[in-house]
Amino acid sequence: MKNIYGITRESLENYFLEIGEKKFKALQVFEWLYQKEEANPDNWSNIKKEIRDKIKSDFSFSVPKIIRRERDTLTRKYLFQLSDQNYIEAVVMYHDYGISLCVSSQVGCNMGCAFCESGRLKKVRNLETFEMVSQILLIESDIKMRISSVVIMGIGEPLDNFRNVMNFINIINDAKGLAIGIRHITLSTSGIVPKIYDLMNMDIQINLAISLHAPNDEIRNRLMKVNKVYNISQLITAIRDYIAHTNRRVTIEYVMLKEINDSEDCALELANLLKGMNIYVNLIPYNETNHINLSKSDAKTISNFCAALKSKGINVTIRKEFGSKISAACGQLRSKEVEK
Ligand code: SAH
Ligand code: SF4
Repeated sequence: MKNIYGITRESLENYFLEIGEKKFKALQVFEWLYQKEEANPDNWSNIKKEIRDKIKSDFSFSVPKIIRRERDTLTRKYLFQLSDQNYIEAVVMYHDYGISLCVSSQVGCNMGCAFCESGRLKKVRNLETFEMVSQILLIESDIKMRISSVVIMGIGEPLDNFRNVMNFINIINDAKGLAIGIRHITLSTSGIVPKIYDLMNMDIQINLAISLHAPNDEIRNRLMKVNKVYNISQLITAIRDYIAHTNRRVTIEYVMLKEINDSEDCALELANLLKGMNIYVNLIPYNETNHINLSKSDAKTISNFCAALKSKGINVTIRKEFGSKISAACGQLRSKEVEK
């Protein structure tokens, strides 16, 4: 049975047409689900009982459970249990411009990046669309505030779960859905080149972030298995094509790992690689974890790296460290739970 939170408005319109109803009913249902956030069809006062009963028997309304919360000053981290007992997590961040939510797209990840907890635990399965949508709804109702931007940067490789992630974006961006502006939605990928072209051809104006993390193939091969399939030159070509096609600036993520990719030479090589592109670089202080023998670069090294990029005309910022005390990085809370 399909879950109601995984249905796009268009599919719901088709459903109503199929059962011989008017398609604007889909709009009303969307308003209940996403604008009034009323999950119980019995309370949908403008929809007649016969249709409510039909919807109740045709769709599942079950959602994941919040089983743990951790908090820091500007961060809340949630661990969810799915109906098959798997775990995922989401992180809320309070910024001066609003509240952003980092959502997971898979249970674990198959990309196997050397520095990442989610990759260490491997992919168990893709998340269903409703399991992604629910992360937002459950957290909004927990914090009693609206999420203003969404980053798909939690556990998983979103482009390895393409269809469900695209439906998720459709539903949360829908003006009658959660109405989160398309430019307030960011998708981060490790760089599956053909999927970047598929995304480009969707012609949506989301923010794309690319986990580059290295200025050359030698270093990137050591950190990211995906580089052995799609190397830096193929990835840069795809990013250039994506920028040309969408006219959007792309974010380049670069996690700062001590004595691995943080030298001044690396900065200069990176500047050279990205010269003239409509990008900006986000330097991410590495969030250390118990199981992985990698360390974060010193603050001084990071600021020197940043200055070296700037001196070459590259736009660059250093990511504010959110929630490192509460294991906020990709997959760390889940990994603790799985180990128990
Ligand atoms: N799979 C996608 C999105 C999820 S990971 C991707 O790789 O882009 C989101 C970001 O967190 C990536 O840039 C990833 O490299 C980074 N990341 C993973 N583990 C981290 C850690 N321990 N500390 C800091 N950043 C980390
Ligand atoms: Fe997967 Fe992203 Fe972690 Fe790599 S960094 S293992 S792609 S979640």
